Amino acid sequence: MSETTIDDPSSKNHSRPVRLKRHKVSRESVIGLGMNYLHELGADHICNVCIYNGGSCCGGCEHLSNGAGCKLRNTSCTAWLCGFLKYVLYETGHLRDWNAFWAQVPGLDHRMDYTPEQFFIRVSLEAHTLKELSASLAEDLKELSKAHVGELGFILTVREQLDRYIDLYLFCDNDIPKQKRVKKQIDQLSVPFHRFREALSLHRRSFEKSE
Ligand code: SF4
Ligand code: SF4
Repeated sequence: MSETTIDDPSSKNHSRPVRLKRHKVSRESVIGLGMNYLHELGADHICNVCIYNGGSCCGGCEHLSNGAGCKLRNTSCTAWLCGFLKYVLYETGHLRDWNAFWAQVPGLDHRMDYTPEQFFIRVSLEAHTLKELSASLAEDLKELSKAHVGELGFILTVREQLDRYIDLYLFCDNDIPKQKRVKKQIDQLSVPFHRFREALSLHRRSFEKSE
């Protein structure tokens, strides 16, 4: 393979960010778009396993209400993806779209935002139904955590590694040899994700047929 190309997951099933005429949106509508996107992605399946293993990303937050979830949803937490969710979008080719959408939203911070009530955007966010993929990954993670029951937080370490390598992968766009090496690390981490890989291959095939 040429050193100038890479078997990039983001080139399979790739959806390019749709650029629209600059238009005004509300902070609330952007949060709604993000929440709907995560719902269609099937994030709940993965979150349930992660939370069961002590990995909730809301832990200790003052806005978390017992039994009711987040009381004060903001743009920052909606935009933020952990390694597991990033991985699903990386493999399905939607991660760059997600990033492009949130890059235009002002005022993101940690567990809060300074996003104005109204602002202008150009890039749209189209949700994709990936619930089966996420459910498959959740099953793989359950199995992985059972197999490593003596190693506290094993799947959370995998989550952090996926997060780090996928960020690095995106960062290496101008260094293809390095990007290939990083991709191998991600592939290595995903070896135990048998159900997910099977579902992904079906997903890619059905996408190719619809092209
Ligand atoms: S870290 Fe990821 S998988 Fe875990 S609860 Fe948060 S969003 Fe869900
Ligand atoms: S503000 Fe963010 S971290 Fe806090 S409960 Fe809401 S979503 Fe979770």
